[in-house]
Amino acid sequence: MTSESANPQPAADVAIVGAGIVGICAAAYLTEAGYAVTLIDRTGVCEETSSGNASAFAFSDVLPLAHKGMMRNLPRWLADPLGPLAIPPAYLPKLLPWLWRFWRAGSPSHYEASLAAQAGMMKLAEPEWMGLLDRSGTKSMLREDGSLELYESESEFRASLPGWAARDRFRIPYRHIEGEELAALQPGLSKQFVKATFVPGWKTADDPKVLGKAIWAYAEAKGAAFIKGDVALVMPSRERITIQLKQGRTIMARHLVVAAGAWSHLLARQLGDKIPLETERGYNTTLPVDAFDVRRQLIFSGHGFVITPLATGLRIGGAVELGGLKLPPNFARSRAMLEKAKRFLPGLKTEGGREWMGFRPSLPDSLPVIGQSKTAANVYYAFGHGHLGKTQAAGTARLIRDLVSGEAPALDLSSFSPQRF
Ligand SMILES: Cc1cc2nc3c(=O)[nH]c(=O)nc-3n(C[C@H](O)[C@H](O)[C@H](O)COP(=O)(O)OP(=O)(O)OC[C@H]3O[C@@H](n4cnc5c(N)ncnc54)[C@H](O)[C@@H]3O)c2cc1C
Repeated sequence: MTSESANPQPAADVAIVGAGIVGICAAAYLTEAGYAVTLIDRTGVCEETSSGNASAFAFSDVLPLAHKGMMRNLPRWLADPLGPLAIPPAYLPKLLPWLWRFWRAGSPSHYEASLAAQAGMMKLAEPEWMGLLDRSGTKSMLREDGSLELYESESEFRASLPGWAARDRFRIPYRHIEGEELAALQPGLSKQFVKATFVPGWKTADDPKVLGKAIWAYAEAKGAAFIKGDVALVMPSRERITIQLKQGRTIMARHLVVAAGAWSHLLARQLGDKIPLETERGYNTTLPVDAFDVRRQLIFSGHGFVITPLATGLRIGGAVELGGLKLPPNFARSRAMLEKAKRFLPGLKTEGGREWMGFRPSLPDSLPVIGQSKTAANVYYAFGHGHLGKTQAAGTARLIRDLVSGEAPALDLSSFSPQRF
């Protein structure tokens, strides 16, 4: 058993810091494998970024962010203070090193390497999620109705084609559509959308928070334990790791998994691992379920947001604000996307919404960090999934289980190494 006391004793199994979707899935996989798991979080289970996202299982979303299309849009996006991408001026100096790495990640060779690694991760993530949904009895929360990516002009559609061609290389099915077929897949859409791409394999879940809590209930039923606490200090030695909470308690474990989302680098730094993690803050509004009859996830890439029909409401949002962990939220962003959504779906009822902001944990090359600390082989990192943390959580959990149990990882982890920077 993992022990927890004022005078700690050497303990056996695994402690996980961070009860977002990545930590929850890791807890489920490790508990299934017979480990005694303690999950630690300062807020609760699935209460941060994993609670309010767009709920997509975006297994076909393999393009790294630093691609040419993105770079082309940058000047236009940055010119609009409430547009898809914003950098608060006060945060810019702190961000420059990350931006430089992001820029480099867009070079052809880096881009190709990240694309292949991302596609490999997605190939693992999909069957791992389907298996976990089955085992945890949560499959009924899965919606397999595909997505529609929408274009306002021929030129916007044409600009998307290289990205679709890249997906061809990984045999990702999609279909470009227009006219009646588009109107049938999403009735009531504004006529300004002249074309769309339908991705049949795109999936969503009823609600990310409900799903996260249900996966946790499964892990808990198998024996995992939760401790509410803010981890202040991690002190590894060869046999055990001492985890000190701000509340004064100490927890001991043989292995530690750091799955603390956008805050993970703060713990990694204590172990001598310098990882360039930034946060892409994202915003949304969740309207009542009957706000509009949206049939499947709608993606407005040119405007940087999506509309997702959930069991708990209609969620509208996205956008990226590179503003760090401390600045207060600017919910004018949520409202700006809602205004656009009203134009795109005439008749959308915009009253009664809940606004939300979350912290995407993002590395400059759009790939997560999955691997061991350079100074402590019994500390494992599982963070930095950016826009895709829900999609990749079960795949990451599988890889962490492989590492903790000393098995060969299901995927070559060199592209995800904490030491790659
Ligand atoms: C607007 C928006 C839309 C998104 N849409 C999607 C989507 O459709 N599909 C998708 O796959 N992804 C999506 N994402 C991304 C996804 O939400 C994230 O990648 C994912 O939630 C990250 O999960 P996590 O478990 O790493 O982090 P989190 O969910 O943030 O969990 C980290 C946890 O660590 C805890 N923690 C941190 N430090 C400490 C400490 N010192 N002590 C104790 N606890 C600590 C925090 O309290 C938190 O609960 C979206 C994100 C946003 C913002």
